[in-house]
Amino acid sequence: MTNRPAEGAQGERPRVAHPHRPPPRRPRGRRTGAAGEEARPLMGAPPRFPHGQAVELRERGWTWRRIAESYGVTPSAVEQAVRRLTDPEYAQRQRDYHRQWQRENRRKPCKDCGTPIWDGGESRQRCVTCNGIHHRTTVRETTLRCCECYHWKPNEDFPHSERNRARRNRHVVCRGCQAFARQRSRKARRVPCRCCGKPRTNPADNSKRHPDSGLCRACWHEARREALTT
Ligand SMILES: [Zn+2]
Ligand SMILES: [Zn+2]
Ligand SMILES: [Zn+2]
Repeated sequence: MTNRPAEGAQGERPRVAHPHRPPPRRPRGRRTGAAGEEARPLMGAPPRFPHGQAVELRERGWTWRRIAESYGVTPSAVEQAVRRLTDPEYAQRQRDYHRQWQRENRRKPCKDCGTPIWDGGESRQRCVTCNGIHHRTTVRETTLRCCECYHWKPNEDFPHSERNRARRNRHVVCRGCQAFARQRSRKARRVPCRCCGKPRTNPADNSKRHPDSGLCRACWHEARREALTT
């Protein structure tokens, strides 16, 4: 027997909001307003009339003109809004058209190479690649700077990297620094030898050509020598 109140009875504890918790945010998104709340687009001007209510009026048999006059907007505006909410195919067509329009009209050429970029105002002038080229400080005529050891080295001293287009597709860290880092991490991951207990290479770092012996190098040679003599 518990002294908990029965399910759904009057004993339901009132929910107390946490004093430091911010009030719940209204859901983001185009048509995701909470129940009973008029959905509002994420960007752009707020709607000039309640779209959900217009749908209801239309269902009650009102003409487009009558709904439009009650809100003081044009009949086609009402029709479009109602169809967007009731006809998924139409809504998708409208979104596709909107996206296409944005692609064609809200773009401008990159200042340096001319590829179309989104018009983000005065501060955005170049595409990602040209922006990198414009602001880069680790690239010279024939050399690149390593971001680990800060030395200027020829291109070949850096592994290939498709991402780093502003660095002639070369990695930000030189081969020497990468090898050093790999060595250090391998050392940190070493495991004890099965035979003598001394640290040995982690089997995960070994080539998979041979089955793992579980032995350090010295013990492995020892075992091999024994196998050959017997
Ligand atoms: Zn560009
Ligand atoms: Zn380096
Ligand atoms: Zn050993």
